[in-house]
Amino acid sequence: MAKGKIGVSSENLFPIIKKFLYSDHEIFLREIVSNAVDASQKLKTLASKGEFSGDVSNMKVAVKIDKDAKTLTVSDNGIGMTSDEVKKYINQIAFSGANEFLDKYKNDAAAIIGHFGLGFYSSFMVSDKVEIISKSYAEDAEPIHWSCDGSPEYTLKKGEREQVGTDIVMHINDDSKEFLEEHRVKELLEKYCRFLPVPVQFGKEKEWKDGNYVDTEKDLIINDTQPAWTRKPADLKEEDYKGFYQKLYPGNEEPLFNIHLNVDYPFNLTGIMYFPKLKNTVEVQKNKIQLYCNQVFVTDHVEEIVPDFLTLLHGVIDSPDIPLNVSRSYLQSDHNVKKISNHITKKVADRLDEIFKNDRQDFEKKWDDLKIFIEYGILSNEKFAEKAKKFFLYKNTDGKYFTIEEYENIIKENQKDKEDNLIHLYSNNKEDQYSFIRAAKEKGYDVLLLDSVLSAPLINKFEQENPKSRFSRVDADVVDKLIDKENENKLALSESEQDELEAVFSAVTPKEEIGYYVTFEDLGENAQPMVITQNEFMRRMKDMSTIQGGMGMYGNLPDNFTVVVNVSHPLVKQVIETKNNQLGVDLEPINTEIKSKLEEKSALEKLKEGKKEEEIPQEEKEKLAEISSELTRIENEKREKLKTFGSENKLAKQLFDLALLANNMLKGEALDRFVKRSVELIK
Ligand code: ADP
Repeated sequence: MAKGKIGVSSENLFPIIKKFLYSDHEIFLREIVSNAVDASQKLKTLASKGEFSGDVSNMKVAVKIDKDAKTLTVSDNGIGMTSDEVKKYINQIAFSGANEFLDKYKNDAAAIIGHFGLGFYSSFMVSDKVEIISKSYAEDAEPIHWSCDGSPEYTLKKGEREQVGTDIVMHINDDSKEFLEEHRVKELLEKYCRFLPVPVQFGKEKEWKDGNYVDTEKDLIINDTQPAWTRKPADLKEEDYKGFYQKLYPGNEEPLFNIHLNVDYPFNLTGIMYFPKLKNTVEVQKNKIQLYCNQVFVTDHVEEIVPDFLTLLHGVIDSPDIPLNVSRSYLQSDHNVKKISNHITKKVADRLDEIFKNDRQDFEKKWDDLKIFIEYGILSNEKFAEKAKKFFLYKNTDGKYFTIEEYENIIKENQKDKEDNLIHLYSNNKEDQYSFIRAAKEKGYDVLLLDSVLSAPLINKFEQENPKSRFSRVDADVVDKLIDKENENKLALSESEQDELEAVFSAVTPKEEIGYYVTFEDLGENAQPMVITQNEFMRRMKDMSTIQGGMGMYGNLPDNFTVVVNVSHPLVKQVIETKNNQLGVDLEPINTEIKSKLEEKSALEKLKEGKKEEEIPQEEKEKLAEISSELTRIENEKREKLKTFGSENKLAKQLFDLALLANNMLKGEALDRFVKRSVELIK
């Protein structure tokens, strides 16, 4: 019997393995089982080269629990180890710069294990003692028995084993009793081992008998040794892809498409990506992409490996070139990982382009479920954005789809403003903005439906890239002004008339949080009497602040609307007429007074002209101040009269409420009052 010390240059390795790696304890099982699988595959390879003549048709890894002995054993009939090999592979953990590295990563189990290839030693995280009983495939090899209790001392002696292969016997420590529970071990095997290439057996299949689950004769095999991604695309049918999806995400709705990835240069990568149906929210996905390394499950945190937008996809990536057990900071700086990420992005874009070209109809049908993904990609990844220009689709309010180029061709005749900007009109809600959409269509414009949560930033991006291409929501202005063409409409109202009317009509707007700004337009007698619009720029800033945050300034601004009064509409004319009839006599003396005060004021101001401040006599200054304040008082008095008239004028109020109603903005008490008033007016 040989005794010795495990060849680590630092004695503190074991304590670190045992204590600091606490959070990742469960991965020991993955490490031990994948070693067993490797050993099995190595033996198969040797057999295929004629270097081993035994039977390799029944390779299997068996996992067993012995609760009484408190052991968990992983057995294989793989290549086995001679005592020299144990000395070389198990006893010598040769590495350089160990202390430094251990210090840096003492809280990161994965990094340590990955860096040193400590796979086997991870068993000490959960064991008081580990034994290896092994017989090498080499002719006349003696079976060996290695044992170590977690201190750097081990024993190595002759062992007892008939067949070629290895048993790893782990004497589970008191803190890790969970790994002696069948359900826990099964759960781990299903997590890490379900697609390993060699059958992994764990007990027997069970059946329901006399009110109990009992073991059958049949071995329970945990894994599917040939998962879909490892097979040739030519050998797979659509059903196989769908079936595999269900295996990964049981009960999930059928995906839209899939992409089978298969790369062998300049790195190795296989996998299947699925496009799930995405609702109109960028939600944190519960079904994540799973990362494998030679069919061993590594993680479903793939954020560092694939670009952000691709994490919305589902599926599997398998690459031996992604370092298996590394920490996050490691991954980000890894060269291969960057290449892999770019490659997957390119593949995904190419595949979408291909589907679009080959079956546009089907692509259009799936667009609504797909667009959030594509929009996210365009916003977050320039390479993807470049490619996506070809297959990104606009949907208009009639439900027709266009590529960017097609759409620009359609609107370029009719939707250019006087500065040659191409104006894309859009709605984000067909119901709410119905009357605006109708008005725009009647004018021969096309209206897009941009109703995704990402529409606002997307529009900003498109405008930044192409400043001659602008977007304007249909309710951003009255239809005549949405696209500002040459023809200026002259208003038949004097400035003082406008001032009077402004007082009348602003009296019907509510005074709460929302700001209303009254303006006048000649929209023709067939247009609506009053229209409520919202400035594109301000609204967009508010929209952006709700999704981006950090733009609090805009988010906190009150909503601001413009009330456009159509002065050529007969009902508006009626309000004006009533005002003239009711207030005419009252206002006349006031107007005369205002006029004379204004004349006095301008005469005084004329006297001031060309004089320096100190040259103006004090008397004149006082006189001017007095007239100004007098003027303000009279104007306010006049304004009050107009406002009182406005607030009592049912027709004006009714017209305003109708405009609110057309925008779906009339709610609650205001709506109730509107209904009552309407009934009265009809009576
Ligand atoms: P790695 O697997 O990364 O090389 P490990 O510490 O897990 O590191 O294993 C070290 C070596 O021990 C392996 O490379 C292999 O040669 C040998 N080994 C481990 N487990 C077995 C096994 N079940 N059968 C045969 N050899 C094994």
